[in-house]
Amino acid sequence: MNTLIFATNNTHKVDEVRHILKGLWNILSLKEAGIDINIPEPHDTLEANAREKSMTIYHHTKKNCFSEDTGLEAEALGGDPGVKSARYAGNDKNPAENTAKLLRELEGQYNRKARFRTVISLIHDGQEFQFEGICQGTIIEEKRGNAGFGYDPVFVPDGDTRTFAEMNTAVKNLYSHRKKAMDRLILFLATKNNG
Ligand code: IMP
Repeated sequence: MNTLIFATNNTHKVDEVRHILKGLWNILSLKEAGIDINIPEPHDTLEANAREKSMTIYHHTKKNCFSEDTGLEAEALGGDPGVKSARYAGNDKNPAENTAKLLRELEGQYNRKARFRTVISLIHDGQEFQFEGICQGTIIEEKRGNAGFGYDPVFVPDGDTRTFAEMNTAVKNLYSHRKKAMDRLILFLATKNNG
């Protein structure tokens, strides 16, 4: 099976992606690939941050790899926290504080519509390709569920009544932004492998 480095050490993201690529590609996290470097996320778009991560790892390894950057975009907040999602409540990237801040900002808001947006950046034979995935949903008023990570306990995807944190990985992947972006990556890799 072909191997791809996934430029992250977020174990939740690795689990979700492994679930999607099971039997197709072998995925190595940075730690599993023996890479210990700090990857910056200095830009103001998901696209630029994703590119920064994948390029950094490609220059380090010269191997095919991909990264992803994800943001939660609330309609009533003009798309915030967006690219700032990880550091919404501060530089320590605390998920509970980020979620609490989101709920405070949306307090009393009638419009609770939001979407997760993922941008994957793949470096294939030295060239970059990007794939986007979007999941529309609603931010509820109180956290529900213990699964998942980040903003999962307050996000209900359209078409369901459960939060992402009340779903196992297989069910989250029926709806998720990351799964949609990964599906595009898989199609792309299939064409490269056949051609
Ligand atoms: P990053 O892509 O790791 O920079 O994530 C940005 C922020 O969004 C972090 O606070 C993550 O915890 C959160 N996040 C990313 N993906 C998801 C998801 O699938 N569900 C919930 N939160 C997420």
